[in-house]
Amino acid sequence: MNKIADINQIRSFFPALEQSVNSKTLVYLDNGATAQKPKQVIDLVNMMNSGINGNIHRAVHELSSKTTELYEDSREAIRQFINAAQKEEIIFTSGTTASINLVAASYGGKYLRKGDSVLVSEAEHHSNIVPWQLICESKEANLRVLPVDENGNWRMDMLDNLLDSSVKIVSVSHVSNVLGLINPVEELIFKAHAKGIPVLIDGAQSIVHIETDVRKLDCDFYVFSGHKLYGPTGTGVLYGKREILDSMPPWMGGGDMVETVTFEKTTYAPLPLKFEAGTPNFIGAAAMLEAIRFVESIDKKFLENTERSIVEYMTEELLKIEGLRLYGAGENRISLFSFTVNGAHPSDLAMIMDKMGVALRSGQMCAEPLMRRYGVESMLRASFAAYNTIDEAEYLITSLKRAIKMLS
Ligand code: PMP
Repeated sequence: MNKIADINQIRSFFPALEQSVNSKTLVYLDNGATAQKPKQVIDLVNMMNSGINGNIHRAVHELSSKTTELYEDSREAIRQFINAAQKEEIIFTSGTTASINLVAASYGGKYLRKGDSVLVSEAEHHSNIVPWQLICESKEANLRVLPVDENGNWRMDMLDNLLDSSVKIVSVSHVSNVLGLINPVEELIFKAHAKGIPVLIDGAQSIVHIETDVRKLDCDFYVFSGHKLYGPTGTGVLYGKREILDSMPPWMGGGDMVETVTFEKTTYAPLPLKFEAGTPNFIGAAAMLEAIRFVESIDKKFLENTERSIVEYMTEELLKIEGLRLYGAGENRISLFSFTVNGAHPSDLAMIMDKMGVALRSGQMCAEPLMRRYGVESMLRASFAAYNTIDEAEYLITSLKRAIKMLS
């Protein structure tokens, strides 16, 4: 089948893009927070809610068989999408946050000892800081931080020293939700593995922008959210190498994750169910299949070229604006830009921009340590998706200039 290489055709799948906001055509540039959903995803969710609804893995009746099949088909599609070796390595969760909490509690609970360390970077989302702090606190272990330089790049020169024998796991983002830079995860994984340390990659932002091959990356864990990948809210994935997942204890107990239960002793189901206690968001998880089909229906070269044009245009135009500081300098980046403007508060700018129909993110971006690093309390962020156009980038720049003028 021919791949789609036409932005209008891509946009036509997204009903949300047709709406007006504050009497202006919506220009949705908060995709880093959550992406809009294509019709295919909406239709599958509606179809399941309207009838194909029976709890998975439980009953022999027709509806249960159908939902189980849709759920498991989606798991297989995700396996292929990230090139995992086995279906059992794909665990459905409610999102990136839940995936990291699972690994922190289960892996950290088993392997961390007093005096051990967990290494994260200075540019992490709170979701990749706090779960580690919780487990470190209970184990009397330490959270170590790989700093970023003024441009937002990891201080790779400090890595060797930080990666000493106390480090039991490294957990870092492929792309920061603030800086948009593509981090040198391959080099980090190589160096950590040379010392026998496993690595978790937070792919919440990268999964939409970078072709992901977990086997090529050789990461031990890779986590992402479905809702940023055009899928339903409350869906996410934890990929883990089978050997390491097999060695970890369950995180949550409940239905579906057991083999046999007695009051004396319970044995657990094999992967992946061991980590999927209770009734999951099976409709959402099943609909991730449609989100992946949508992504795969688009011509990759077309996507890359559009993104490159947006990156070039945005960096050039943003840097021309007097008093604007862009955080995260470097060419190896995705179309996500965080900035501040002298004399204009990010939330005031975001509010004015909203009146012009442009949806931007403002605030501390769930990355307070990074805000502190740059000595700011908040930033403004524009993040693009496959359906955003150069025209929208131009409208953003024009509106931003007008908004700045209004505040000066
Ligand atoms: N990590 C990163 C890099 C993110 O961008 C986000 C979402 N902004 C998260 C983790 C958390 O994702 P979720 O809220 O979907 O669990």
